[in-house]
Amino acid sequence: MPYDTQPVASHFIDGQYVEDTAGEPIDVIYPATGQVIARVYAATPAIVERAIAAAKRAQADWAAMTGTQRGRILRRAADIMRERNYDLSVLETYDTGKPLSETTIADATSGADALEYFGGMAATLTGEHIPLGGGDFVYTRREALGVCVGIGAWNYPTQIACWKGAPALACGNTMVFKPSETTPLCALKVAEILHEAGAPAGVYNVVQGMGAVGAQLVTDPRVAKVSLTGSVPTGKKVYAAAAAEMKHVTMELGGKSPLIIFDDADLDSAISGAINGNFYSTGQVCSNGTRVFVQRGIKEAFLKRLAERMDNAVIGDPMVMETTIGPMASERQLAIVEGYIAKGVAEGARLVKGGKRIAGAGFYIEPALFADVTDDMTIAREEIFGPVLSVLEFETEEEVMARANATEFGLAAGVFTADITRAHRVVAGFEAGTCYINTYNLAPVEAPFGGSKLSGVGRENSKAAINHYSEVKTVYVSMNKCEAPF
Ligand code: NDP
Repeated sequence: MPYDTQPVASHFIDGQYVEDTAGEPIDVIYPATGQVIARVYAATPAIVERAIAAAKRAQADWAAMTGTQRGRILRRAADIMRERNYDLSVLETYDTGKPLSETTIADATSGADALEYFGGMAATLTGEHIPLGGGDFVYTRREALGVCVGIGAWNYPTQIACWKGAPALACGNTMVFKPSETTPLCALKVAEILHEAGAPAGVYNVVQGMGAVGAQLVTDPRVAKVSLTGSVPTGKKVYAAAAAEMKHVTMELGGKSPLIIFDDADLDSAISGAINGNFYSTGQVCSNGTRVFVQRGIKEAFLKRLAERMDNAVIGDPMVMETTIGPMASERQLAIVEGYIAKGVAEGARLVKGGKRIAGAGFYIEPALFADVTDDMTIAREEIFGPVLSVLEFETEEEVMARANATEFGLAAGVFTADITRAHRVVAGFEAGTCYINTYNLAPVEAPFGGSKLSGVGRENSKAAINHYSEVKTVYVSMNKCEAPF
């Protein structure tokens, strides 16, 4: 192994690495080879206690710093992340199996964007002045919530750690972050860098573990807010646990998003949208447009051209820059995807291309293209979280809108058309939090990101995230004598 993937220790608490081998061991597996590349240990209850206590201790002083001071630390961390982008990208690739051609542009860079954006915003977070009658007035104070817990999925471990940490810290909160047990390495680097940039001890902590550790974090009375990126079933559990103590929540959950392609669309552009919306990160993206509705007149041309372009995918060693499709993140996820492909075939969908496991080491599967998919099929209803694109045929706008929205999910949705009036009408009709016109799957930090319906509550990124990491205190100021009825 030319790169040292074993972290200094499993956890990062109170400004330093902490080890406790009494916890359950978690072997970190490189998805491209199936080899164990590191071992960490799940947090014991004592470790979780240390992390929450450290975050609680650090919070008041952190919130008492000026926004300019906090922001400077976040922006310095962004600079360090950019300087180390290559090494951080290699680590992200070891953690997830995503190809270096992606990780060098979409992970530490996206994390750095969040740190820079919220770092810049920290000094601008103020309340407002509200004049009332008789000279009275109200002012509001925008205050931190306290200790925030972040829980991440395994597809974007660096990005998720930053998307949650940056707005939380900008607002004066401290954080305890638990990565997915599948990808425990990257968040530790985020913690290291934040502290190197000047974050005081306890401001950003990382503990490893499975669901049980997450559950202990979520139910702790000292925790004011929980932000989860994960599946809908986990989201329901975490939301319910947080609700018992009236904690704030942000839920970034799964989806089964529609991508509608009208016959007037630029065909190659629409196909690029479908490729980006189904095969990026080997299909392991929550906002993927996995139900690709193609208007009848262009369906065969669409399938033919898409199949040709899929031939250009380079499946292989994710450390080679030319590779565009890496392995699945885990053997378990590979098995789930294979199961869905088998179900698609069994239920009568036409497998146009791909879908076969690639023999040899690593968790590789060919991207799959299904045609003749109908709304009732399992592959059109359930989130697969893998490189499986389903083409569904439609005739009219009215029909496709009803079908696009006939899902319990509502994370994202997209439309390709040359008709601008139709484009805006269609997105207005989508029951989804994040919509695209003539593109797909971009998530710049400036734009709110999040879901409707079962896909979640709250928004990450943008100014909207501030509302989810702070609360407003109202202060009524009387300029007059206080009177009472008796
Ligand atoms: P899971 O829901 O299985 O897990 C998410 C995180 O929650 C993990 O860290 C997990 O720990 C933890 N967890 C599990 N059970 C509990 C519990 N009871 N209390 C607290 N924490 C718990 O999701 P995956 O990791 O499998 O990720 C894939 C899912 O994430 C997909 O459904 C995808 O759509 C969604 N996702 C959503 C995104 C969005 O922004 N909307 C972005 C990326 C992914 P562990 O796994 O270690 O046991």
